[in-house]
Amino acid sequence: MTEEALTYNDVLLVPQYSEIKSRSEVSLTSMLGSLEFELPIIASPMDTISESSMASTMGEHGGLSIIHRYNTIERQATIVRSVVTTIPSPIVGAAIGTSGDYLERATALVGAGAQVLCVDVAHGHHILMRTALDELREAFGDSVHIMAGNIATLEGYNDLVNWGADSVRCNIGGGSICSTRIQTGHGVPGLQTIIDCARSATGQVPIIADGGIRNSGDIVKALAAGADFVMLGSLLSGTDETPGDVINTRKGKFKAYRGMASKDAQVEWRGKTASLEGIATTVPYKGPVTDVLAELERGIRSGLSYSGARTIAELQAKAKFIRQTVSGQTESGTHILR
Ligand code: IMP
Repeated sequence: MTEEALTYNDVLLVPQYSEIKSRSEVSLTSMLGSLEFELPIIASPMDTISESSMASTMGEHGGLSIIHRYNTIERQATIVRSVVTTIPSPIVGAAIGTSGDYLERATALVGAGAQVLCVDVAHGHHILMRTALDELREAFGDSVHIMAGNIATLEGYNDLVNWGADSVRCNIGGGSICSTRIQTGHGVPGLQTIIDCARSATGQVPIIADGGIRNSGDIVKALAAGADFVMLGSLLSGTDETPGDVINTRKGKFKAYRGMASKDAQVEWRGKTASLEGIATTVPYKGPVTDVLAELERGIRSGLSYSGARTIAELQAKAKFIRQTVSGQTESGTHILR
């Protein structure tokens, strides 16, 4: 047996003396290599989250979108190109795999204007990742930022950094639509992976906390534990900017949200199923993503001010985590007696 591992609900940040008088004094700037972002939020490369509309709006808000790879090379490159024409100083990311036509795809995406390539596989601590990172570096040198993942351990993080990743997506099995832990028995509670990777002496490349983030409080905890960015699926799902139509029902309006290893997604993109490690669902329609991002941003800014921090780096230096009991978890939610 190994030691206990923590996730977002298990901990709280202790409020600290603060001299911050307004949320506007807080800066949420974060760096992805040499690329600067005003909002440390990345939209996940999923076919119900990130295409051109999400990428343009995330760009306008100072965040980033990774265009998903579940389409033809031409279609993905066209989406990237369409974003590069819509926003003034766009930074666009796009996902690739580690096998098949991934190098050809990467070349087309970089040609279309992608500045971030995301090597997007479920188990990134893998020999195929090593080969892909070698080949991508040989093809592009340092001209493109290479994000890689996902990993669940410090060993995984260190290896990906040593193999050439410029940033690493951390968390296996924590996503809201993920069934990896149920299907395979493998994974590490999401916050623990961030805590572990932040201890790395190897490379200190940006840590992307990916999956399982349900509110701005979780985002603040992820950043405080050492993440440079969070990657979101469910929090952005159901918005106007996600691909897919609004579904009108007697119970209200919904949109589809699905794991990329769900049966629905696999049948649509591969024509067959392999290992099923995700689910497909619908989520309530939420309106414009701008409103969701504004609400999250307000919460994150407040969060930094509770720790007396003006920047993410200050938050990471000052943060004091405590564990909360099950009773504490109940108290931490709204719990009015009825
Ligand atoms: P969420 O923000 O909790 O909804 O998690 C989104 C994250 O779940 C994505 O960024 C991926 O890392 C992960 N993910 C996406 N599809 C699947 C799947 O089918 N199985 C497992 N994990 C998935």
